[in-house]
Amino acid sequence: MAGKLIIGNWKMNTRAQSAQSLLDALLEQPACDQPWVGVAAPAVYLAALGARLQGRAIRLAAQDVSAFASDGAYTGEVSAAMLQDIGCAYVLVGHSERRQYFAESNPQLLAKMNNAMAAGLVPVLCVGETLEQREQGSYLAVIHQQLSILADIAAGEYLIAYEPVWAIGTGKVATLEQIAEIHSAIKTWCLQNAKPSASIRVLYGGSVKAENAESILMTDNVDGALVGGASLDAGSFRMICQAA
Ligand code: PEP
Repeated sequence: MAGKLIIGNWKMNTRAQSAQSLLDALLEQPACDQPWVGVAAPAVYLAALGARLQGRAIRLAAQDVSAFASDGAYTGEVSAAMLQDIGCAYVLVGHSERRQYFAESNPQLLAKMNNAMAAGLVPVLCVGETLEQREQGSYLAVIHQQLSILADIAAGEYLIAYEPVWAIGTGKVATLEQIAEIHSAIKTWCLQNAKPSASIRVLYGGSVKAENAESILMTDNVDGALVGGASLDAGSFRMICQAA
């Protein structure tokens, strides 16, 4: 099943030592030390992990990037150029936790996408509906609204991650039918509305585990997985990478 992309999102977890140990454990696994595997570590540890990854295949990813394009008086911000400078290849944009806790809006996310791409990073735009939106039947409209920023960015490389909010960290996985439906809808929307990108690749995220990774990754239009909780355990993450 080569060609699938697996990105682990460590979120606000680990310390300097445990982040190094986790990365070392992944580097010992041939299934993980591959160019189609990425790890999104906390920002403060990215530089050290990036140094460790010199000459290795695993790609480094950031969990967020500033909406401000150039250096300046933006206390606390980390720019796309800084992330590129320390070896990041990917950056998550608009993860549902950032939309929920930091009220990230489409104009901000558009700026983040543009900044990431201008710096040579591949942004991963995260989209997905809440349980309420799914039950109300408005989930496709919600996802289209989140995707709408792609109509305003120049052609280039980016990824999309479909992460139903109700499946993140809950142990509830979307059914394969639900995943196939939304992934297909995302690709159709992009073909009709977005500027041509190298290819439209859509990852699935939401309680992906060693046990369900293979069936999810084999589902139509699933080009990879964004993995939260299970990426903090080297053994589980290895099994997910093996399924790719
Ligand atoms: C995520 O946060 O991107 C995620 C998919 O988390 P989990 O795998 O824990 O549901």
